[in-house]
Amino acid sequence: MLSKHAPPAAPAPSIPADAGSNQRRMFVKSFGCQMNVYDSQRMADVAGREGYGETERVEDADLVILNTCHIRERASEKIYSELGKIREIKEARAAQGRATTLVVAGCVAQAEGGEIIRRQKAVDLVVGPLNYHRLPALLEAARAGGGVVDTDFPVEDKFDFLPDASPEAIRARGVSAYVTAQEGCDKFCSFCIVPYTRGSETSRPAARVLDEIRRLADMGAREFTIIGQNVNAYHGLDADGVAVGLAELLARAARLPGVLRLRYSTSHPLDMSDDLIRAHAENPALAPYLHLPIQSGSDRILDAMNRRHTARDYLEAIDRVRAARPDIALSSDFIVGFPGETEADFEATLDLVEEVGFASAFAFKYSARPGTPAAELRDQVPAAVKAERLARLQHKLEAQRQAFNAATVGRRFGVVFDKPGRHEGQLIGRSPYMQSVNAVVDSARIGDMTEVEITGVKPNSLTAKVVSPPGAGAS
Ligand code: SAM
Ligand code: SF4
Repeated sequence: MLSKHAPPAAPAPSIPADAGSNQRRMFVKSFGCQMNVYDSQRMADVAGREGYGETERVEDADLVILNTCHIRERASEKIYSELGKIREIKEARAAQGRATTLVVAGCVAQAEGGEIIRRQKAVDLVVGPLNYHRLPALLEAARAGGGVVDTDFPVEDKFDFLPDASPEAIRARGVSAYVTAQEGCDKFCSFCIVPYTRGSETSRPAARVLDEIRRLADMGAREFTIIGQNVNAYHGLDADGVAVGLAELLARAARLPGVLRLRYSTSHPLDMSDDLIRAHAENPALAPYLHLPIQSGSDRILDAMNRRHTARDYLEAIDRVRAARPDIALSSDFIVGFPGETEADFEATLDLVEEVGFASAFAFKYSARPGTPAAELRDQVPAAVKAERLARLQHKLEAQRQAFNAATVGRRFGVVFDKPGRHEGQLIGRSPYMQSVNAVVDSARIGDMTEVEITGVKPNSLTAKVVSPPGAGAS
């Protein structure tokens, strides 16, 4: 399965296709966030049950699924150029008597529905993110022809119907796994399309989430990222019908056999509860890493964004997290050029970045999304100003990232190596702080917690040497 998404990077999951030449093949490509990576895996699980093995070559695929992202205009426009290329492949395959079913899933599917088929006739099925459990019936209808669209907000919960991944699929996806605990969002930030494409905020029952983690761990997964559009608002019911928050969910997950490291993403500053902050001090499996988007350092802009917190609230949340876990690595998201953003507003963002010191962060130019309140605002910022501010912000964030990485040289910590590196004998894993780490390690140690010492810094990764005897643990 291919994935085009922003870091934190997903493992490169690939279900080994059955070698049988008659087996149907699927090509699944994921754009955008971690939720899409996870959803793509679940769609692959559904199609796997239907007899499709996976291929990384679209030319070989009887079923092509593009799992799309609508968060910014460029992300959704990319889909149409991708579809144009796939149409040519579909036509070439048809000339050889081979049919291809082309599916557009994800948030562009939800937002644009049948318009996608009108713009690109090669598309057979458009399915929104809440309806993947209906794929078998939808694929059958799509194969019958005519173009099928399912962007309903269903009454049933897709998670009650999605099949479990096969043991082979789980093993092929490696030791790092995403598990969705929460979906949708009720915050309605004025720039954001998510509440319209993913629906209102829902939490999966705690037992379901924990069962999924248990099953993945049984098959060899070791590092888990609990994901949701607003994951720290998680409030799933446990078996006694009592709502469990994210801190408790993480505590229960940490007790499951095989779980070595936990992360969660993405969080909203308003939902950084005391018990979640305490978890960073008390939960030994919880990585010292927090992705906490703020978007802007200007209170005026935060208000216009309907974020419902100030820059001071954010800084106070950071202080509390740092008091609980002093070595925590912080990450964030920023939007530059939100309508009405002045140079003074932008400088407030730069000041906030200076004050916090981020280990990594993502910065985006504001992109007007049709249907969101901010898209209607009149004082849109000129493209050139957005580009200039983005460059300044990214320059500052990159300097902080490099400084953070350089400061880890000489430090020791545990890494769960998960796949071979580019050089012979090397493995790649993630540091507790989400940095990519390369070291010469016996491949038998994939999936173990291996203590390393950081020996060097490359532009996008760290190099390390192993310091622990096999089997020794580290946090
Ligand atoms: N729930 C998270 C939060 O509270 O910030 C964010 C999830 S959103 C899927 C990921 C990021 O995309 C946001 O943090 C924001 O920086 C960016 N984003 C969302 N809408 C955007 C827009 N219209 N233009 C530019 N960036 C946008
Ligand atoms: Fe979008 Fe995040 Fe705001 Fe929800 S909290 S509307 S997902 S930016």
